[in-house]
Amino acid sequence: MAYKALYRKYRPSTFEEVVGQKHVVMTLQNAIKNNKLAHAYLFCGPRGTGKTSVAKLLAKTINCTSENKPCGHCANCIDIQESTHPDVVELDAATNNGVDEVRELIEKVKYAPMQGKYKVYIIDEVHMMTSSAFNALLKTLEEPPEYCIFILATTEPHKVLPTIVSRCQRFDFNKVSVPVIKERLRYIVGQEGITCDDDALQLIAELAEGGMRDALSVLDQCIAYSQNNITAEDVSTVYGIATNAEKLDLLKAVRNKDVQKSMAMVNDFSGRGIDLQRLTLDLINLCKETVIYSYSGKGNLLEKTTVAQAEDLLRNFTSDELLKCIDYLMDTTGKYKDSSDSMSYLEVCLLKMMNIAGQKTESQETKAFFAVNRPEPVNVPVTRTVKAEPEPVKEEPQEIIEEKPVEPEKNEVVEEKDPLPMLKAVKNLSDENFYDILSKSVKALKEADLPKWKKVIERRDVDSMAVTSMLNGSYMMAESEKDIIAVVEDRLTADNINELSNLAKLEKIVEEEFGCHKNVVAVTREQQTYLINYFRSRKSQPAPVQETVEEKEEKEPEKNKTIEKLTEIFGKDGFDIVED
Ligand SMILES: [Zn+2]
Repeated sequence: MAYKALYRKYRPSTFEEVVGQKHVVMTLQNAIKNNKLAHAYLFCGPRGTGKTSVAKLLAKTINCTSENKPCGHCANCIDIQESTHPDVVELDAATNNGVDEVRELIEKVKYAPMQGKYKVYIIDEVHMMTSSAFNALLKTLEEPPEYCIFILATTEPHKVLPTIVSRCQRFDFNKVSVPVIKERLRYIVGQEGITCDDDALQLIAELAEGGMRDALSVLDQCIAYSQNNITAEDVSTVYGIATNAEKLDLLKAVRNKDVQKSMAMVNDFSGRGIDLQRLTLDLINLCKETVIYSYSGKGNLLEKTTVAQAEDLLRNFTSDELLKCIDYLMDTTGKYKDSSDSMSYLEVCLLKMMNIAGQKTESQETKAFFAVNRPEPVNVPVTRTVKAEPEPVKEEPQEIIEEKPVEPEKNEVVEEKDPLPMLKAVKNLSDENFYDILSKSVKALKEADLPKWKKVIERRDVDSMAVTSMLNGSYMMAESEKDIIAVVEDRLTADNINELSNLAKLEKIVEEEFGCHKNVVAVTREQQTYLINYFRSRKSQPAPVQETVEEKEEKEPEKNKTIEKLTEIFGKDGFDIVED
């Protein structure tokens, strides 16, 4: 006997066997029972969700001559099943989309049914019809004969003419959920006498992406590959996807900051032809479902993960950490489309995730760090004298710039200003600390050290990578003898770099490349703009007293001084002057 594809063999023969479309099935059954059938139906939904199967079931039910409809045994049922019934016409608009086919079909509409009670026209992929064919059909849909029923099916309802849609009763078929597909698969492999482990069923159900027909095609192929005993590895091999166990392993390697193992796994996935973009989406789902589980405690909300897997992951990550991982993963999926090198993006993403894992609360660590490493800001930054030679202050490193004298009262105005909320949130460095660093920064030093910073970013030895990978696209905003302010990609990255253990690693690398110790602090571009503006306004603090015209004129050179200083630190294009 010839092998019959599973999706043919296990096509639903009754409405009860239709998988996952309860709302459609119930409405149709009621319409049949109450004799309230419409003359035109529009079945919308993704491929393989049962549109054609339900259409055929409807055709059988209304033409069946037995008591239990559809019986599957009477001549009408059998002929419809075999697609040989003279009154049930199936047309695939994807291949027969011309006006001639539709005209021919419509021509026959006027003849009464030959064998059954109803003539049923099933037009699949109806959105593929040409507009003249649509118009020909429209006339018939306006006034169909009593015995005639049209069932139009489409995966793209928005492409169907509104005038057609409005004449149909519309049903939307949903994607079938993974657990529902899995249960159906479990039943089928049982019927077929095949053993198939749970992970394998899960993988097949996921691969089907909501389509029961696809699920059965995948199962067919897996049976062909591994005969009577299907394992998750078999499915993974046939379809080039990673198993849940492997995904969990990868996340655990990330959690353990095992750079070598995670990179080796990515390499292996890539070598096996596993789609890394899909893998990234899978990891997002795995993390997302685990977070949902940790919040709700409900296993029935899990589709792609089992309770055991979610609990396993929660032993390794907190839900906050998982949410941060999701951020990074989602960020990475956005980058894939412009790149042919998915592997590098995924690797960098995993390295970033390593820094999330096991991070202590930011405030504790940054506080500790700055308590140890940062001297309290010298609280006399503005009371500098007019001398051409900078005055060496005992605690302070040599001042590089000359400054105009600033009145002490002005200083007070500055102190009273609200702290910068944005920066406060990131670090315990106050605006004054930043001001201090910026005041001591020298553009020439920064420019001379650009190649060194580049070397830091490009460090790819296993020890450095976890930190330096976060510096992709970063640059030095300012450099002084003792400090570097680095601008990095985003807030999450800045937070990660500023985390105590990462900062220690980074400063060690900087020391190796720069030849001396520097304190590093990471900021975002937004914060850079803020700092520049703060620096500027701090430098040219207007006097609180009323200005006379004369005084105003005197202020001009002071403003120019500030701009000079800004140019010295950042270069001509390194800052924007925002007029107050
Ligand atoms: Zn029948």
